[in-house]
Amino acid sequence: MIVDYHMHLRDPDERIVHSLEALERFVETAAARGVDEIGFTEHVYYFGQTRALWSLPYQLERCVYDLDEYVGTIVEAKRQGLPVKLGLEVDYVGDRQDELAAVLESYPWDYLLGSVHWIDGLAIDQEPGLWGVESVAGVWRRYFASLAELASSGHVDVLAHPDLAKIFGKRPEGAIDYPRLEGVALEISTNGLYKPVGELYPDIEFLQAARLPITLASDAHVPQNVGRDFDRALDLARAAGYDTVTVFESRRARQEPLG
Ligand SMILES: [Zn+2]
Ligand SMILES: [Zn+2]
Repeated sequence: MIVDYHMHLRDPDERIVHSLEALERFVETAAARGVDEIGFTEHVYYFGQTRALWSLPYQLERCVYDLDEYVGTIVEAKRQGLPVKLGLEVDYVGDRQDELAAVLESYPWDYLLGSVHWIDGLAIDQEPGLWGVESVAGVWRRYFASLAELASSGHVDVLAHPDLAKIFGKRPEGAIDYPRLEGVALEISTNGLYKPVGELYPDIEFLQAARLPITLASDAHVPQNVGRDFDRALDLARAAGYDTVTVFESRRARQEPLG
């Protein structure tokens, strides 16, 4: 079994189109690349229903789409028998995580990704962001503390791009102190290959320290990138000792043979 559990429903020019026609293009690429099942995980801050949670211009400018329409499209695709799952990429929002979860509660998610992109309004994956006010070691420490908090909230099922703090290739001196995590899966994401660091997320040392189940992820923002570089992701998974991959349904996880 091969899944791609992280992608954003856009047209081939990366415009947001939450339609069945746009979704079908992702399904076609998946089939062509041998990916058995895909999951859509739009950013939570794109939806008007979550507006009360946001304060950054970056989020407020994007917060204009209808969550019911997005969910409806994917539910309809499932009803038609397409191999798709309903997910969302849920941001870490600190002490407002329960409030965000309450907004999402009534929808039929198969799984929710958890991501730490901002801490106290400062970005990890944009510069200067948190890098402008913290040392490299400080950014990593705060990033992992927030990731652990998000994992233990119970509101997400998979941690997206788990060592995102390496995005610019800046790492603390010495061995990295990985967080203790429970009750979530980690995604192996090929998207890091296209960031300044030029590596898969996460490092093999993180996988081996965490001993958590895995998913596979392209983080595609256009249909042509579904399943991109998954030979590399599979190599990493096997090198870290995995022979199964996680499949989600209604927020319940099961393991299937990998590959
Ligand atoms: Zn992300
Ligand atoms: Zn994403």
